[in-house]
Amino acid sequence: MARIYIETFGCQMNEADSQYIADRASSAGYDIASKPEEANVLVLNTCTVRDNAERRAYGRMNHFKVLKEADPGVRLVVMGCLAEQDRDRMQTLAPHVDAVFGTKELVQLGDQLQSWQPLFDDIDFTDERALLMPLGGSADAVTDAFSHLRGFVTVQRGCSYYCTFCIVPHVRGRFDHRPMREILAEVEGLIASGAREVMLVGQTVNAWKDPATGEDFGDLCKAVGALPGLERLTFISPHPKDFTEKIIADLASVPQLNPRVHLPLQSGSDAMLRRMNRKYTMTQFREKVDLIHRYLPEWAITTDVIVGFPGEADTDFDATLEYVKTGVFSNAFMFIYSIRRGTPAARWEQVPGEVSAERFKRLLDAQNASTRAYHDRKIGTTVRALIVGPSKKDASKLATKTLDNVTVIAPMPDDYDEALYAREPWLDVDISTARVWGCTGTIVRRAERFHEEGVRIVQPVVSLL
Ligand code: SF4
Repeated sequence: MARIYIETFGCQMNEADSQYIADRASSAGYDIASKPEEANVLVLNTCTVRDNAERRAYGRMNHFKVLKEADPGVRLVVMGCLAEQDRDRMQTLAPHVDAVFGTKELVQLGDQLQSWQPLFDDIDFTDERALLMPLGGSADAVTDAFSHLRGFVTVQRGCSYYCTFCIVPHVRGRFDHRPMREILAEVEGLIASGAREVMLVGQTVNAWKDPATGEDFGDLCKAVGALPGLERLTFISPHPKDFTEKIIADLASVPQLNPRVHLPLQSGSDAMLRRMNRKYTMTQFREKVDLIHRYLPEWAITTDVIVGFPGEADTDFDATLEYVKTGVFSNAFMFIYSIRRGTPAARWEQVPGEVSAERFKRLLDAQNASTRAYHDRKIGTTVRALIVGPSKKDASKLATKTLDNVTVIAPMPDDYDEALYAREPWLDVDISTARVWGCTGTIVRRAERFHEEGVRIVQPVVSLL
């Protein structure tokens, strides 16, 4: 039996690409394996956004080497941004890699899988393989019992903005927008196969325009929202520059949209924004935030911030810190600048590591206080959240995500059954405590559909103690 294992690093764009490869593999006759030791084909979907992501991907290739040594018939394929960036040297650095497919070669990878499939028809797996796999380093496998609940649809690939720190335009190419009719057909397919939440994915998703009609991202969200059976809709990752008032007003008219927008700030200093080639000033960023508050008053705003970008002076950092301290963001992904080969900022004079580390800590403390305050406000409320699966840290608990993307962990109910909870995945959770990483609570109800009231759940004994 042919089996494929797909492991994904990086952003939702990669998640969407992995989902495409999983679909192609399924139609070619593969089963999707949840462990690498149970597969004939191992696919690593890689990321280059930071140095750490590259190192993890090469580390994972080395983990897989042991499976190839035990069974030379196993095929190891690398795809994604690192494959695109390192295509000329990857097979020198990792000679056991069988094939490398860049970000624009998904169709070719699908064809390759199809041609390999007959080779694996007669192969059975033994438990011995499981003993071969070293521990650690794993990213998310493409499928588990709950992965069909969240569907990813790529609406736009590439980016033409060339931020000076970013490798994306170099590895994924310039803007390429998919026609609306293709996107709608794909969303319909995901709804039919059980997706409760659909995420529209693009490197600068709100720059999307239909290539034929010129309809914009607001029109797209309205059209997706009108599809029968769509429960929840969300999108990642917009660019502040591309949020027009018209688009934000359109978003307000789509009730299925999750109340959270990711608005990458990167820096609170105009000088840094210019050096980063971000194409907005702080005044313009604030105007976008004001529009969001006006049209979407209940929405959470999350962000990305880079600390220690080349040329960042104390005054630049202070401007970022002061803005973050206003509490405008419910959460933030913050990073110390990491050199990306081939980008302009890689050639500039770097901020000393200890300076960046000290700034980062101060910024983290400020944002953590805001994030914690945001989570505190959920205590005593009941939130409806979509199941993620058993908690990775504690298998006696379930992990869920709220509509505003907050992780909520709760004891596994007594009636927990994987198949049942995959069918009835909306969970109402009474929130009792808040942390920086999210909240904890007790699951009191489960529902098949977002708008249904659902059924009450028997409390686990532990929560009554
Ligand atoms: S907008 Fe900037 S950060 Fe975002 S993908 Fe394009 S170049 Fe990279």
